[in-house]
Amino acid sequence: MDMEPTKPIIQVRGLNMVYNQGKPNESKALEDISLDIYSREYVIIFGPSGCGKSTLLYALAGFQKPTSGEIVVSGQDINLFGKKDRVEFHRRRIGMVFQSFFLIPTLRIMDNICLPKVFISEGNEEREKRGKEVLQRFGIIEHAEKYPSELSGGQKQRVAIARALMNNPDIIIADEPVGNLDSKASFNVMSILRELNERDKKTIILVTHDPSHLSFGNKVVHMSDGRIVKIEEVTERKEMVLKGEEEVLVKKEIMAPEVQMLMRSFRNFSPSQLGMLLFPFKAQEFLSHILFNVPEEQIIIARNKLQEVISGRVTVEQFENLLDQEEKKGGLNWDRRIVKRIIGRLNGILEIVKKMDTAQPENTAMIIARYIVDLLKLQLTEYQVIKLSNIISLRIENKLSIIELRNALDRPILDKGMGLDKRTANKIAREVEILMLAKFAT
Ligand code: ADP
Repeated sequence: MDMEPTKPIIQVRGLNMVYNQGKPNESKALEDISLDIYSREYVIIFGPSGCGKSTLLYALAGFQKPTSGEIVVSGQDINLFGKKDRVEFHRRRIGMVFQSFFLIPTLRIMDNICLPKVFISEGNEEREKRGKEVLQRFGIIEHAEKYPSELSGGQKQRVAIARALMNNPDIIIADEPVGNLDSKASFNVMSILRELNERDKKTIILVTHDPSHLSFGNKVVHMSDGRIVKIEEVTERKEMVLKGEEEVLVKKEIMAPEVQMLMRSFRNFSPSQLGMLLFPFKAQEFLSHILFNVPEEQIIIARNKLQEVISGRVTVEQFENLLDQEEKKGGLNWDRRIVKRIIGRLNGILEIVKKMDTAQPENTAMIIARYIVDLLKLQLTEYQVIKLSNIISLRIENKLSIIELRNALDRPILDKGMGLDKRTANKIAREVEILMLAKFAT
């Protein structure tokens, strides 16, 4: 398992794939592809038919040797693997899911599932035990004795996912996994993949040409004619929810996975190391937190400048000038009131950050609690403020994740929570995260 949070689990550098090289029917399927995939990301490779998605996927999985370029997985160039290492890599690290399931028609479902374990020569009993576990998990245990032809498409795909998980790989690669399924079965399979990402912390790489799937991922790699034309980080994930027979899209906010990973593991870093790593994310989080509706190019300029504010190279005043001044003077000429608000918020955050002392989590938590009560104009009793501060203190010490913090805030009082409404709980959680992000660079 690659647990180092700051290093990509997969690094692709300068990948080219030419089919039928030197022949009249030569075709370039991949051109100069470079891509970083981090552990626990859900990456979607998206583009029209023939743009090279599957070629890239099979190259990542080590099934297809590229014409040139590197694919480094957990520090090892997979194209330099010998036969034994390659086989191990496929068995232990990668789980594959395909559009056409690839179940063996003459084997029962249980035996189909157990195949990956047969190859790593595990005993019969162990195999079936694991087989039962995964079949149970995906609600298909009652089909264990049947043959693939007796199952629906959606059930077959669940079997295929169960099979991919038998050896507990950390990377799941899925090639148009719902391409042959109706919308209800698609929903089911997409939900399973999302759960494997969120709950089981698997890195998912999924190929699709269907734009309605994009919102399931947190990184979308757009491809066209063998090239990557855009990589999009998604900070808001939409979820499909079944209401009766209807699928409804609901929005769910998520933090950038890099930030989640860094926050989860920040204990292992010295504050200055973490601060360095966080500059770009921090700047981005700050801005998206404070701003809306500004063109992306301007956000990038502002973000870069803000990064320098956070690292201490540029003053808040210089940043304010950039936002405020006319374009011919090199400024962004934003609305004066918006600039005032941004600078006000920024100063507020930086002031609190100055007072934060990680050696004294309880005092720091109380400072943050009072700041948030004031900022969000919350009507809380002194007892509730103390409770809020206790919960924040646990987050500062990393004893709670951001999600657990939010849950503690909106859980009923009888259940040891604070009993706040969901919106307030969300807002508070975001403020705490922003302050924590800001803290680790100053
Ligand atoms: P996608 O998955 O986006 O539909 P592919 O990766 O399958 O795209 O194909 C990319 C390009 O490479 C296409 O032009 C396709 O015709 C070509 N190609 C794919 N596989 C082969 C092959 N085995 N031999 C020759 N050309 C191929």
